[in-house]
Amino acid sequence: MGYAIGTMAQSTRGTQLTLTNIARSFNGRAALSPLSFSVQPGEFISLLGPSGSGKSTLLRMIAGLETFDQGHLVADNADSRSFVFQDAALLPWRTVLQNVSLPLELSGANGDPEQALSLVGLSEARDLFPNQLSGGMKMRVSVARALVSQPSLLLLDEPFAALDERTRYRLQEELRCLWTSMGMTVVFVTHSASEAVFVSDRALVLSNWPGRVIEDHAITLPRDRTHKLRADPAFIREVSYLSGVMP
Ligand code: ADP
Repeated sequence: MGYAIGTMAQSTRGTQLTLTNIARSFNGRAALSPLSFSVQPGEFISLLGPSGSGKSTLLRMIAGLETFDQGHLVADNADSRSFVFQDAALLPWRTVLQNVSLPLELSGANGDPEQALSLVGLSEARDLFPNQLSGGMKMRVSVARALVSQPSLLLLDEPFAALDERTRYRLQEELRCLWTSMGMTVVFVTHSASEAVFVSDRALVLSNWPGRVIEDHAITLPRDRTHKLRADPAFIREVSYLSGVMP
């Protein structure tokens, strides 16, 4: 896989989230029905649902980027949150290392960009520019940029959806491995049941518009996950279960 777990490992503590009766409408039209759930420190959960079910809206609320009309959202130990979007959104005039350094420059926080790059296996690419990178490499840089501040909460919005299947599988594996060593809380948005099953330990399934939680499902698979798990009957059972529950 080509990346190493270094001194950043085990350095983060996870955020605890408690959402109570959160709801949101846009222009008088409900996007999210009142919903309640909590996420324990260090948990890796997926928000799984069809397009338009409100997953991104919910994730943005957790990030503090979106308001809600009613309810309470409490985030304990959330001093450092990072967001990874589907588009890697790198600055083309900055090198890979300079892109990863950006959050530290903006916030004045301490962090080690070289270490973050090494975590995603891109030390060798530190002086390249974004237009010299493949789609998978760009997303790794985006993940490194999110990790550089050692977040207690990592939020990802369909980060691998635009990648080819092989790269997507590899990045799912890498993300899972990074989480097992770093221990932050992760909330991962996806519309793919197999992706939710592979990366996370729990899936919250959202209904069709307006979104509400229709299933809160614990994924009972080993903590360490490699590609061969995809052929395991237990994995296939979980995917089939969640696919059946999804609207
Ligand atoms: P998902 O991520 O599951 O595809 P979204 O959270 O993006 O769903 O959107 C949920 C619903 O809320 C959609 O119907 C979408 O059109 C609507 N919505 C989201 N953001 C806005 C906005 N800023 N203004 C108006 N409608 C919005």
